[in-house]
Amino acid sequence: MKKKWGLLGGCLVLIALLGGGFWWSQSRPTTLSRPARHNRIKQQAVSTPPAKTVKATPWIKLKQPLQLPILMYHSISSGNQLRVPKHQFVSEMAYLKQHHYRTFTTAEAIRALTTNTVPQKKVVWITLDDAYKDNLTNGLPVLEKYNLHATINVITGFTHKRNHLSLAQMKRMKATGHVDFASHTVQHLNLDELTATQQKQELVNSKHWLDTHLDQRTQMLCYPAGRANATTHRLAKQSGYQLALTTQEGVATLKQGRYNLSRLRVTPGMTTATFADLITVTNR
Ligand SMILES: [Zn+2]
Repeated sequence: MKKKWGLLGGCLVLIALLGGGFWWSQSRPTTLSRPARHNRIKQQAVSTPPAKTVKATPWIKLKQPLQLPILMYHSISSGNQLRVPKHQFVSEMAYLKQHHYRTFTTAEAIRALTTNTVPQKKVVWITLDDAYKDNLTNGLPVLEKYNLHATINVITGFTHKRNHLSLAQMKRMKATGHVDFASHTVQHLNLDELTATQQKQELVNSKHWLDTHLDQRTQMLCYPAGRANATTHRLAKQSGYQLALTTQEGVATLKQGRYNLSRLRVTPGMTTATFADLITVTNR
């Protein structure tokens, strides 16, 4: 009898041991030690093909000086001659997308103009002056939809105003990668009517505000109402800007001067055909 109980007990111990072993093997993946888990991740990483190395394509050197169409917008809404309705902006951005235009960032525009090179034939630089709130509500969704880029020229003293973009909104827009920000001075005064000291303050303080708040090195200045004089050009360079934009009508070329570049005004009611003509230049 004693022997029988002993045998039964032995069997129970064996079952318990086998069961335990089974449980341990099942639960093992979640109880891997850190190095073991690391090795497994490493193995998985090795088994997936390595990502292709993206080579920076060299830009094309032009034989003639670059002719860069720089579009000038303000508000994307309806109401006056400075406002372009959203439906028109949509048509124009759709045109750029359908016709394979490359929409420059500020850095790309500087590179193109100063080295006389382009990444492709069709290039355009979209700029929006004054940093209206509708650039976020009406403009950004369109840029995102067509995967285009635009530069917004900020009046840094206006960022608390109801119709203008706040700093938080600018940060959000910048994070999308579809927008960058340049200076449109602090108070939007006619620079050519100010003393050199006052001009310098407008140029330096707006740059400092953008550099600090948007964590960038602001490289472009856009003159309010296009007004500037020889002192402004000198001070823009001295303040660390790489180039500056006016409201003079025309396609930009470096011949105009780095601090005196022309733009193409987009007016409300302009047809897409007119828009297409406006940006058609021959870059060879
Ligand atoms: Zn303006």
